[in-house]
Amino acid sequence: MYERYHLHTDPAPDLRAHPNRFRVRVKKQGLASFLIRELIQYRGNKKIITSRPCVYGVFSGPIGGFAPRPHLCVGCLRCTTQHPEFVQILPNPERQQLGDSYLTPEYAETIHYEAQTGRVPVKGAGFRGPFGGQGWNGMWTDMSEIVRPTRDGIHGREFISTAVDLGPKPPFLAFDERGALKEHIPETLSLPLPILFDAPPAAALSEKFAQILSAAAQEAETLLILPAGAIKKFSIFGKAIVPLVSRGDTRVFGNFPFEPCMIELDGWDEGLNHHAQSRFPKSIICLRVGAVSKEELLRCFHAGIRVFHLAANYHGRGPDGRFMLDLIREAHGIFVDIGCRDEVTLLGSGGIVAAEHVPKAIIGGLDAVALDTPLLIALQAQFGGECTDRMTSRFRVPAQLKTDWAIQRIKNLLASWRDQLLEVLGAMGLREVRRLRGEIGRAMFQTDLEREAFSGIEGYGS
Ligand code: SF4
Repeated sequence: MYERYHLHTDPAPDLRAHPNRFRVRVKKQGLASFLIRELIQYRGNKKIITSRPCVYGVFSGPIGGFAPRPHLCVGCLRCTTQHPEFVQILPNPERQQLGDSYLTPEYAETIHYEAQTGRVPVKGAGFRGPFGGQGWNGMWTDMSEIVRPTRDGIHGREFISTAVDLGPKPPFLAFDERGALKEHIPETLSLPLPILFDAPPAAALSEKFAQILSAAAQEAETLLILPAGAIKKFSIFGKAIVPLVSRGDTRVFGNFPFEPCMIELDGWDEGLNHHAQSRFPKSIICLRVGAVSKEELLRCFHAGIRVFHLAANYHGRGPDGRFMLDLIREAHGIFVDIGCRDEVTLLGSGGIVAAEHVPKAIIGGLDAVALDTPLLIALQAQFGGECTDRMTSRFRVPAQLKTDWAIQRIKNLLASWRDQLLEVLGAMGLREVRRLRGEIGRAMFQTDLEREAFSGIEGYGS
């Protein structure tokens, strides 16, 4: 029986207190002498003396400014502007450890909110991020199709599908004279969400963490890519698991007691591909690639690969330093040019750290994305410096991780990101996410717009 896809959300409060945005430093001596001066000047008039506290209540605790409450500080800087001699507002260095130079503390805070509540973060003050910039910020989506209230995002009466199909698709159907299909149609895998979980970083890959991701993937009806060695070591099997295999894993994954619905090859290897196909004939074979090379993609396509996973680093950069969006557009364009884009599935991971990056990546040409660092942030893991690479990055996952809590946090995150995807689709008047793929006409690029507006003007591009 048909059931509408639904992710159950439930509040999952933080395990440990979130670091404050600011540190409030008050020199007690300076404050005391200021208060004494005020007492004398206003002859003990308490009403006047206490009439200029922080309106956010930072100095409204039982002993006022002697024990400030920094968690209430919003950084308006009024206090330090008025009394620079004894009040200082400083960024909290602990907050910087929430992320790194790419996954900034602002992204991390948004993910925390989404994982805590499962809701769309609406601040009521409009978009406070940059209107342009590098990477995803240089791409804007066109929402000018808000014409159908019934198809209005999350709350519309018309259902918007977020389902995607992974796997080989025939270029066309051929029928014989009796109207029967001439050829066998290959199996595809339908996911209700264009979001998978990528292989966790080596530093965070414990048995418990892998089990949490596996259970969350199962509940969300999506897939978890897991290195073959970890699958064997932790005995984590099931439909949601996609083994990530490399040449040395032939024996390990050959002995798996389950038939994975998809197997991901870590780089092209003809022998490995042949082994995977003969050992698990029903499994879809996916190829993980770093760099986008036309020759290599086409060679693998002609060798029978129909699912490609473009894996950039955690900062969304490929081996040649290009950003994820450019890699996606190039790979998509290669298959469009030879007329076989509908036959292949493109997955992508790396640098996707906000809900808005999902529709942007799909508009660029992906069918679905695979999440990496946002899953760690959702579970309140901390970054140990700059984290760019799956094998070398350091993360500190909370030791007291509770399984049910962690699964709920991931489900909340997915539900929030799905709702935001629905909003984008609704605003574009689209009924399903499949139609968003490669819809580059729905996007504007800062570089293109600037070129159109300013090229020919002296100084442009210099
Ligand atoms: S910076 Fe603003 S919010 Fe923070 S303590 Fe000072 S007055 Fe209050």
